[in-house]
Amino acid sequence: MKKLILICMASMLMACGAERATTPRVEDFKYSVDKFADIEILRYRVPDFEKLSLKQKEMIYYLTQAALEGRDILYDQNNKYNLSIRRTLEAVYVNYQGDRKSDNFERLTTYLKRVWMGNGIHHHYSEDKFVPEFSEKFFAEAVKSIDPSKLPLSKGEAVDALITKLTPIIFDPTIYPKRTNQAEGVDLIKTSANNYYGDGVTQAEVEAFYAKMKNPNDSTPISYGLNSKLVKENGILVEKTYKVGGMYSAAIERIVGWLKKAATLAENDKQRDVINTLVKFYITGDLKTYDEYSIKWVEDLASQIDFVNGFTETYGDPLGMKASWESIVNFKNIEATKRTEIISANAQWFEDNSPVDKQFKKETVKGVSAKVITAAILAGDCYPATPIGVNLPNANWIRRDYGSKSVTIENITEAYDQASLGNGFVEEFMWSDVERQRAKDFASQTNNLHTDLHECLGHGSGKLLPGVDPDALKAYGSTIEEARADLFGLYYMGDPKIVKLGLLPDKEAYKAEYYQFMMNGLITQLTRIQPDKNIEESHMRNRQLIASWVFEKGKTDKVIEMIKRDGETFVVINDYQKLRTLFGQLLAEIQRIKSTGDFEAGKKLVENYGVKVNQTLHAEVLDRYKKLNLAPYRGFVNPVYTLVKNKKGEITDVSISYNEGYLDQHLRYSKDYSMLPNKN
Ligand SMILES: [Zn+2]
Repeated sequence: MKKLILICMASMLMACGAERATTPRVEDFKYSVDKFADIEILRYRVPDFEKLSLKQKEMIYYLTQAALEGRDILYDQNNKYNLSIRRTLEAVYVNYQGDRKSDNFERLTTYLKRVWMGNGIHHHYSEDKFVPEFSEKFFAEAVKSIDPSKLPLSKGEAVDALITKLTPIIFDPTIYPKRTNQAEGVDLIKTSANNYYGDGVTQAEVEAFYAKMKNPNDSTPISYGLNSKLVKENGILVEKTYKVGGMYSAAIERIVGWLKKAATLAENDKQRDVINTLVKFYITGDLKTYDEYSIKWVEDLASQIDFVNGFTETYGDPLGMKASWESIVNFKNIEATKRTEIISANAQWFEDNSPVDKQFKKETVKGVSAKVITAAILAGDCYPATPIGVNLPNANWIRRDYGSKSVTIENITEAYDQASLGNGFVEEFMWSDVERQRAKDFASQTNNLHTDLHECLGHGSGKLLPGVDPDALKAYGSTIEEARADLFGLYYMGDPKIVKLGLLPDKEAYKAEYYQFMMNGLITQLTRIQPDKNIEESHMRNRQLIASWVFEKGKTDKVIEMIKRDGETFVVINDYQKLRTLFGQLLAEIQRIKSTGDFEAGKKLVENYGVKVNQTLHAEVLDRYKKLNLAPYRGFVNPVYTLVKNKKGEITDVSISYNEGYLDQHLRYSKDYSMLPNKN
């Protein structure tokens, strides 16, 4: 629940960094790599990689290898047929001897690209299953036309049987329609297509199983169920743990192998200990060891290189317990980190002065560490779609007692900003040149600052009242938590203190963020929703919740208006200070809901403001957006790292190249980092 994803792709001017000797310059770098369906694929630069020491570069190399080895785990977690489907499509793509220019083959290629983007057969964002545009007949013929030894056949399985097995999974929209179902009133486990729970397991059984494990008096509980699949064996529920010798062992063994190599090059003993503890966790699967690792990880602030590698975020489980596998390897952007250090140094002031009721505030805000990082690789659930900020660990008690590490991934936001330059979005959706100019002048800075405030302060602020179950808000928990972090940031963006601290250059600058946020929450994020659908994803729910709540509460004072001009709807903000006050009021209420575990109030807020879409407005927005011919979603390709060796075989350097395309990258990953069987 601590991932921040870039929603608004407004085109913003980006201040150019200093010229670098070896990293390609912004103006020479080709950010856009590929475009298909509703997706644009970008690449990102890794500025200053060359300036790291050889030892650091080599360590990063091993950590990137460990990152790539987990790719198949995520596919299998997302749906148990994903690996078979991906492997079948890849086999056809590589080996097909028929007409590769035919409509059917091109549609199959597009479908395969979408599977890579979603790490499976569901859309990475809407989580709806997408249905291919090629025919079932073509699929069967194409699969039959290639050498069976290239196909992911199980032992003794005939090609026809494989086709019969996969065809309905791929083509029938009623089978596995939703990856993670959050809709109210149905069994969330049974109606979710992902693979965290075995066949026949019901939501009631899962809830009872874990309720029995939990001790309400334990103030340092493990993250129950985090690293396992819950299945029924002979009528009894058992956890299949992800570990060496357990589920996903073949991939985890490889991850462990690379981590051990990285540990030998650690920058300091603390970091070595972090890696070794993670290895121990992968070997034992013991969640107490995982907490031990998380604490050591959050306390390692000295190292320049850092990484996330493991079962981390629980968005994919409708009950928010089981974690998907992900990895990001990164190193600190020392210059940009000065900004977040100012925020962290003033964390207590922000906590003390927030509009939240005193009983819900932290007396002492601990360990709000924040840094700006440069991503070196994105993997698992951070690839191809990726967050622009991360705040970890997730365990509430570790955050309470040890704090959390918060990062902004600035080379990713740079890629977004640069790729958006002059694409017509701002021209279409902003009300006037005043808003457009403000966006040009400040939005890049305010975007980064809002991310920083969200991550460094928002998620870390406030406290639960004693005895309140951290999971009390259940399916609404993620949305409420994201709203809390966003509001904390929004409220303070407009505070004069921000300018005093030198975080924004001008007292008008915050208006760029307010306008963009309201425009996004009320109008433009609808571009990412299919016609007739409601909002499911928690970050999107959170944004609409905030925007429509303040819109409604400010209606009599006309704080914000939705005005029609030539049949097109625009957001107009008349009173920015009153808007700030409304953000503060909602922050206070959301903190109260979180702190007291008020499920009913949380549910009401989310259902009333965050979920339902105004269909008339939606149709209009989709129509306007379509004319711009932009892709609403973006993903990334990674750079390629290669060990450079001398004649004696000694490593002399690690080179980085940015030339690999989307297709080549995925085919290579599937060849080099694919240890898991088709069925796990
Ligand atoms: Zn967040």
